[in-house]
Amino acid sequence: MAGCEAAWQAAQLGVPVTIYEMRPKVETFAHQTGDLGEMVCSNSFRSDDDEQNAVGLVHWEMRAAGSLIMATADKHRIPAGGALAVDREPYAKSITAAIHAHPLINVTYDEITHLPDEGQWIVATGPLTSGALAEAIQAETGSEALAFFDAIAPIIYADSIDMSRAWMQSRYDKGETEEERTAYLNCPMSKAQYEAFIDALLEAEKTEFKPGETAGYFDGCLPIEVMAERGRETLRFGPMKPVGLCNAHDPENKPYAVVQLRRDNALGKLFNIVGSVRFSTSATAMISMVCSVVFIADRSARAVCRIFRT
Ligand SMILES: Cc1cc2nc3c(=O)[nH]c(=O)nc-3n(C[C@H](O)[C@H](O)[C@H](O)COP(=O)(O)OP(=O)(O)OC[C@H]3O[C@@H](n4cnc5c(N)ncnc54)[C@H](O)[C@@H]3O)c2cc1C
Repeated sequence: MAGCEAAWQAAQLGVPVTIYEMRPKVETFAHQTGDLGEMVCSNSFRSDDDEQNAVGLVHWEMRAAGSLIMATADKHRIPAGGALAVDREPYAKSITAAIHAHPLINVTYDEITHLPDEGQWIVATGPLTSGALAEAIQAETGSEALAFFDAIAPIIYADSIDMSRAWMQSRYDKGETEEERTAYLNCPMSKAQYEAFIDALLEAEKTEFKPGETAGYFDGCLPIEVMAERGRETLRFGPMKPVGLCNAHDPENKPYAVVQLRRDNALGKLFNIVGSVRFSTSATAMISMVCSVVFIADRSARAVCRIFRT
């Protein structure tokens, strides 16, 4: 994604650019296609509020700079309250088409295995940089400088969600239109359900790290079982906070915790869990989420999960 933006900006300034992309010849464990700009996890660009939020301000600045990423995101935007979320497949296809159509951009589908020693290069190979290049970067920078751990964004079939318990509402009813104000699907938990969920999470079997992954977690993006280990209330004050929401099926009772889901595609047939990196887990176990839900977490970055009615 960053490489496409960099190439686009340079080409718009009249500089001829060659993008080297290793997919689809060399695959990663998370990418599913050979498309440029493929989003491997959450489909959200976070807040689009350029007055109150630093991320929204960056969006504004990128739009002002003629960003390909932002123009394409705006074209494939799907309702997400105050956030900017996209329909990921057409989004990546549009980026790919725009890059290929640019007269000053050439795309070569090959893996780069060493750091080039001549010419001007931008290395934007992301967290799934291939092994050989990662080794070259490590040799250049010192191995302590690279850290990565994997997380998943469980995706849920809309028709498997029990709508007699869940309801649609954006936090604090944010959004300009009714569609935006009801962009999120909320799954409530009572205190007993939340406590049972935390117990199941803490007892769940954990996976081992893959070669190349480190356990150097970033506090801004923690797996849920790590958050739960830090305190039983941590999730309830983090991605599962019940604030700014009113249970449409039981308005008198405030939920103890809420799992929020966001539309993952324009058709509204798939949803993903909001705060997906933070709401990701390296637990392999089947985790009971007793707010009428059970989801299966596995290591696949795009695992399709089901919420079962209980
Ligand atoms: C499983 C997973 C989940 C994530 N979840 C989130 C999330 O929820 N929210 C979030 O903000 N971020 C998340 N991230 C981080 C996310 O990858 C980045 O936010 C974003 O995609 C990075 O963009 P990028 O342009 O740096 O890399 P990418 O979009 O990955 O682009 C790098 C490109 O370089 C190519 N490449 C790699 N090595 C070579 C090589 N040697 N030669 C040629 N081409 C090469 C790759 O195929 C890829 O197309 C996640 C990452 C992973 C892996």
